[in-house]
Amino acid sequence: MDGASEFLPSPHSILKTDFIDLDSCTVYSSGGCFCKLEGRIDDCSCNIDTVDHFNNVKLYPILRSILVTDFFRYIKVNLNRGCPFWPDDSKCAIQDCSVKACPEEQIPPGLKGHQTFKIDSGKNVKPTQADEPCDENHGGLGAINQTISDENFEDFQRWQKHDDSIDTFCEMDDENSLELQYVDLLLNPERYTGYKGSSAHRIWNSIYKENCFRFGGGYGPYTTSKNLEALCLEKRAFYRTVSGLHSSISIHLCAEHYTKARDCFSKGEWGPNPQEFKRRFDPTLTDGEGPQWLKNLYFIYLLELRAIAKAASYFENELFYTGNEENDKQVQVAIKKLLETAKSFPDHFNENVMFSGNDKETRKLKEEFRLHFLNISKIMDCVGCDKCRLWGKIQIQGLGTAFKILFSKDLSTNFSVHRKQFRLTRTEVVSLFNAFGRLSNSVYHLDKFRQILGSNQKTEL
Ligand SMILES: Cc1cc2nc3c(=O)[nH]c(=O)nc-3n(C[C@H](O)[C@H](O)[C@H](O)COP(=O)(O)OP(=O)(O)OC[C@H]3O[C@@H](n4cnc5c(N)ncnc54)[C@H](O)[C@@H]3O)c2cc1C
Repeated sequence: MDGASEFLPSPHSILKTDFIDLDSCTVYSSGGCFCKLEGRIDDCSCNIDTVDHFNNVKLYPILRSILVTDFFRYIKVNLNRGCPFWPDDSKCAIQDCSVKACPEEQIPPGLKGHQTFKIDSGKNVKPTQADEPCDENHGGLGAINQTISDENFEDFQRWQKHDDSIDTFCEMDDENSLELQYVDLLLNPERYTGYKGSSAHRIWNSIYKENCFRFGGGYGPYTTSKNLEALCLEKRAFYRTVSGLHSSISIHLCAEHYTKARDCFSKGEWGPNPQEFKRRFDPTLTDGEGPQWLKNLYFIYLLELRAIAKAASYFENELFYTGNEENDKQVQVAIKKLLETAKSFPDHFNENVMFSGNDKETRKLKEEFRLHFLNISKIMDCVGCDKCRLWGKIQIQGLGTAFKILFSKDLSTNFSVHRKQFRLTRTEVVSLFNAFGRLSNSVYHLDKFRQILGSNQKTEL
């Protein structure tokens, strides 16, 4: 469907997209990756250097301190769901692909629990945050049975499931699955794993080819930035978020790359690999696309930043409960600081210009957007390397949560009015902050690569 002109942004809200000027990029050599990393971020109204300064100086240090806390470092995930689209073609036998599951006894007591529902005045069923402890103070199932019958409760659950699914952009793991395992994200950092070749390409291929709203045929799976011109804002935004996420993953594996030992007596080393970064993003090696892909990182960054700022009033009332009162208080204080910082950003992404019509076409476009993204979340179960699958799932869940905050029915107009009915599961909260943490880390590392490559301009890398 291509009601493109109908959904084109109005000139005052969205700024003209500037496309890669190959010539101006190719005059650079090793620093060429950064030739487009200045000026305005496409489809947004703020500048690259505003984001760089805001992230690297203000936000990144706070976020880093939050993500090492117990509430955010442990996540429950099912890495064994299996690929629903094709037979398993895992290609990853190397050690760096494996994920170390966390023994249950290491998990803070407050994180062990089940999804619960809270009754409001005996009329509305309001789900509490998933994994909250099932005691009286936190609204356990016992409380529900005092006010409604089992039969009604099942109905409520069905309705809740239906209502939730309308606003769900991401297929989440079944909270009751026996396959769920706790993972300590600090022990399983996202970094170079050696996962590549046909299995990895099949995933990226499927994501771009099948899910980025077909570009009218004739193009390869990986579209070029110039093709975006013909698309409406929503479709461009969809592509930019996926491409920005792809860039972020690439930056991480370049920043935490493994260099083999020169001889069998020494150990290999982890650290930045500027040659690898250049191979992936230099315009001369990527048909001019690399710098644009890096720019898309800023687009997805702004989108998730806006989601966090928009839901600030929701997060301000969260307990971030782990059962350790002192730690939980510290997390609440740090989160408040982060939210204040996020809200203070001067030029937020404006989600109101997306899906702004009230007609059938707009509703159809939004549903298409949601279903395409839902499909991408299922593709994550096909990633043939455990660690890449873990982080792929978290980052897609985080992005899906950002979409939920930005585009949920009702919430899209006025978050504060409808926030009482809004809820996020613990997994969604942890995924959103960790996903945003990854983007923040990428923006930070981009600056490091800029410095390394800048200082190496004369000596060819
Ligand atoms: C979900 C997922 C998570 C992964 N996580 C990790 C990880 O944690 N560690 C690790 O080492 N490897 C990871 N990988 C593998 C990694 O992303 C690459 O696929 C692999 O390193 C091979 O890289 P490549 O040079 O062949 O190009 P790829 O990154 O595989 O890209 C394939 C093609 O996509 C296009 N392309 C590249 N970047 C962009 C962009 N930003 N926007 C638009 N198009 C682009 C180019 O045409 C490129 O040739 C992951 C893969 C997936 C699918």
